[in-house]
Amino acid sequence: MSTEIKKEVRCPGCGAASEARMWSGINAEVNPNLRLSVLDESLFDWHCPRCGYEAMLAYPCLYHDKGRRFMIYILPGEPDAGKAAGIAAQFPQLRGVRKRVTGSLPTLKEKILLFEDGLDDRAAELVKLLLATVLSRGTGKRVEQGFYCSSDEAADRIGFSFFVEGQEEPVRRMTSFAAYRQALSIVQSMLPPDGEEFLVVNERFARALLYRYRHGEDMPEEEQEAQAAQEPQETAAPQPGPAQESEAAEPSPAQEEEPGSVPADEPEPDAPGGESEDTEQEPADAPKNEMGE
Ligand SMILES: [Zn+2]
Repeated sequence: MSTEIKKEVRCPGCGAASEARMWSGINAEVNPNLRLSVLDESLFDWHCPRCGYEAMLAYPCLYHDKGRRFMIYILPGEPDAGKAAGIAAQFPQLRGVRKRVTGSLPTLKEKILLFEDGLDDRAAELVKLLLATVLSRGTGKRVEQGFYCSSDEAADRIGFSFFVEGQEEPVRRMTSFAAYRQALSIVQSMLPPDGEEFLVVNERFARALLYRYRHGEDMPEEEQEAQAAQEPQETAAPQPGPAQESEAAEPSPAQEEEPGSVPADEPEPDAPGGESEDTEQEPADAPKNEMGE
């Protein structure tokens, strides 16, 4: 069963209070309509029934696909290892199920597409990072975000779309499926089997993994911090007050409880997708084009 909760929301447009439906847990097999609302990125959409004001309600939600054995916890904001560990404590029994924590609806969607296509998102992030690096060098511009689109093993290709600084339309990039297989062999040789911990698998994850692969040691902390400072925020919407930050780390997706961070009376206005505030920096030490040295 998917877990529905109802919450009173006050419209920022007209001030009217109304009841919003939210989902703290989504069972993809039982509620395929909710799966679709993730894939068309409408899950968090909210409309004021009185004046039609449109906003996005971002709240924690656990997406679970039992048949394909994965679960993804969406925790709006910037997920980190600490939050992932807090979530892991809630699901100690689910071994052998791939578990991820992500911070936005587009990244949740990307993971679903990858897992449904039978791919490993850790390897896909490596391929994406390398393609983004090539694209950034070619255009001289920063690549702000990238997403998996499709793959065809028989036709030997895997495709991603990238949002480049200053460009509204995404740029499609393809590479050979063999590049994915190579990335997968790196992942399998360097990382423990998937399915134990909740992982945050994103660009930072891929950079750290690639660094370890090339240098045989962890990335120095200063370098991690320098790179983190350059990353665009994953979240697509501005963050509400500090209440969300402190309470969001205690999700209870399996119960009929309200998620901690629901903005009770302030739906978040929808931000234009892919925008980022910092535009000036260029990666100081971008990884090389190829995986090996
Ligand atoms: Zn209204």
